[in-house]
Amino acid sequence: MNQLFMPTRVIMGKGCIKENASLFSEFGKKAFIVTGKTSAEKSGALKDITDALSKHSISYEVFSEVENNPSVETCYKGGQRAKAFGAEFVIAIGGGSPMDAAKAIAAYAVNDLEPMDIYGTIKNNPLPLISVPLTAGTGSEVTPYSVLTVKEIENKKSFSHKESFSKIAFLDPEYLRSLPRDVLLDTTADALSHAVESMLCKRTSDVSNVYAEAALRHLGQLIPEVLGGKPDYERLLFASSLAGMAIAHTGTVVVHSMGYLLTYHKNIPHGRANACLLPGFITLCNEHNPERLAPVLKAFGAKDCNDFCETIKKLIAQKVQLSQEEVTAFSKKAIQAKNVSQNLWTITEAEEASVFAALL
Ligand code: NAP
Ligand code: FE
Repeated sequence: MNQLFMPTRVIMGKGCIKENASLFSEFGKKAFIVTGKTSAEKSGALKDITDALSKHSISYEVFSEVENNPSVETCYKGGQRAKAFGAEFVIAIGGGSPMDAAKAIAAYAVNDLEPMDIYGTIKNNPLPLISVPLTAGTGSEVTPYSVLTVKEIENKKSFSHKESFSKIAFLDPEYLRSLPRDVLLDTTADALSHAVESMLCKRTSDVSNVYAEAALRHLGQLIPEVLGGKPDYERLLFASSLAGMAIAHTGTVVVHSMGYLLTYHKNIPHGRANACLLPGFITLCNEHNPERLAPVLKAFGAKDCNDFCETIKKLIAQKVQLSQEEVTAFSKKAIQAKNVSQNLWTITEAEEASVFAALL
């Protein structure tokens, strides 16, 4: 079904926070800032945000404890801090980890929840959220999803709420200049995976394809620049947000759910896990639904399926090693994921095993 819902105001360009500092006042007088360990400072984004808040007499507290692939526990702790501070709104500064954590923190802050209740009904709407992405990959600044690590299930699990979309996303390309090369490659692969999965699932629509095809067109031209280490960061950030807007409409499919297992059990960064699994998935799609893969290849500018897969493989910063036992265990678990039902064809456990086995 075609439906367009993109409630996030996206403001782009160098210096966009300073230029739009007055917008923060719309959300109250107390801001709770959520960051990772050092990236908010290193990138310069934290200073721009705190300058803008101080200029408008908005008090703030910084929670800088978000780890990569944030845990439910850390988000719960952040939520209790935000509640104690009396936060009126939340500002996320970081890659997908702080942005996703901030969505959970915004919900815990105004509800009496036990940690795992985040996956149930959330009575009060989460606090308003403003996001400042420091990576061009997850698109979390324009999605309602929050992917958290849950030790009880030995996996990652997402929740979403219709009010978890950011009210504003500030996209300043200057903040991406401090990105380490491996994170740049990993996150570019994540954006690519979002666009590809959005076009290759049952929920694809004319609306989602507008975003996904545009993202693929940009990424096809940007990946040589990314590999060369000097991408046009503004365009890359835009492409990543477009891919995020695509999955905000469709969700992701099995590449993501399979990748969560590589991240949880093998400590593989999220985007790299996708890059490792995409070639196998795309090859299967070429066998089952070549008519659906054709527009993906065309938008990206790939000659054929093989050409596309070879380009994706160049984004894998470090090879992942799996054992046969891990392939068996991961495919057994991955086939139970909720989004398997959204795959274009009825994917089997053996097919998922073949995608994992490509990494042996
Ligand atoms: P990340 O986990 O947020 O960050 C990875 C590493 O890069 C961290 O060490 C971080 O440092 C560093 N870093 C980030 N930006 C930097 C910058 N500009 N300069 C220097 N260092 C920087 O990575 P990510 O790939 O963006 O996010 C992955 C998470 O997003 C996963 O948990 C994944 O499941 C989730 N995700 C969510 C969605 C969604 O729709 N919500 C979609 C896809 C993925 P710090 O620790 O100092 O921050
Ligand atoms: Fe992703």
